[in-house]
Amino acid sequence: MAVRPSAKPGVLYVVPTPIGNLADMVPRALSVLQTADVIAAEDTRHSGKLMQHFQITTPMIAYHDFSNENRGEELLNRLEQGQTVALISDAGTPLISDPGYRLVAAARQAGIQVIPIPGACAAIAALSASGLPSDRFTFEGFPPAKSGARKELFSGLAADPRTLIFYESPHRILASLTDMVEVFGPQRRIVMAREISKTFETFLSGTTSAVRAQVEADLDQQRGEIVVLAEGYRAPEEVDGPSAEAQRVMQLLLDAQLPLKQAAGLAAEISGDKKNRLYDWALRRRAD
Ligand code: SAM
Repeated sequence: MAVRPSAKPGVLYVVPTPIGNLADMVPRALSVLQTADVIAAEDTRHSGKLMQHFQITTPMIAYHDFSNENRGEELLNRLEQGQTVALISDAGTPLISDPGYRLVAAARQAGIQVIPIPGACAAIAALSASGLPSDRFTFEGFPPAKSGARKELFSGLAADPRTLIFYESPHRILASLTDMVEVFGPQRRIVMAREISKTFETFLSGTTSAVRAQVEADLDQQRGEIVVLAEGYRAPEEVDGPSAEAQRVMQLLLDAQLPLKQAAGLAAEISGDKKNRLYDWALRRRAD
């Protein structure tokens, strides 16, 4: 997109829309959409329903990053002529695994003011309620569709200490979780957030292998919109283990060839430590 000087440029607003519940729509987003000269929408038919619901009559034009250059040019022209453009995607925050990057970059390059309206974003909503560390995280968008490329991505992230956030489609979720078990190991803590802000909102949390098993056993978990979060890498010594005494008892029972589950139960009774913690500890040692 060419950069041209402008006497009185307009403003490009980046406007989030609901990710499920229509009440996700923030009042400031509504007023921007109502007063803008034009709305640049990922899919005008899809967003038409939202506009109808909120009685917004602002004209819409279709825009996505692969629209032909002329569409981007047209929007840039409007901005340079002083018009206000509101950029929306089908749901959530534009540019987050959604179109808009090229338009925002071109507008900034042309010296046009770009104003974000804070609002719904599935990745941030999922992180905020996941119970996983939120001080440092990385958003990875959709992993590749093919298992080989997906495992390569996961391998590159396996030692990353930050919480990892992925979007995933329902028909690939089981395959993706299977690859996570393989690459991150069966004991990595993960959270699967599904249908956030909708009727069947569900958060599943546990180890990679436990969540995978739950998703495999329950087809409902393979429906709807999904965010998967994985705890970042933690060195084995960082991971909370059972007390030294509980470990000693557990080891004795395992050495005596007791099955893992039974050993964990007995060691928990003898030591007063948690059965799950002992079980996980023994599994981790087996995997190491
Ligand atoms: N721009 C959007 C945002 O701000 O979250 C994301 C758009 S991306 C094309 C769509 C993906 O986001 C879905 O496949 C799913 O992974 C995730 N997603 C969107 N809405 C969701 C919801 N209500 N619950 C869980 N995940 C959601």
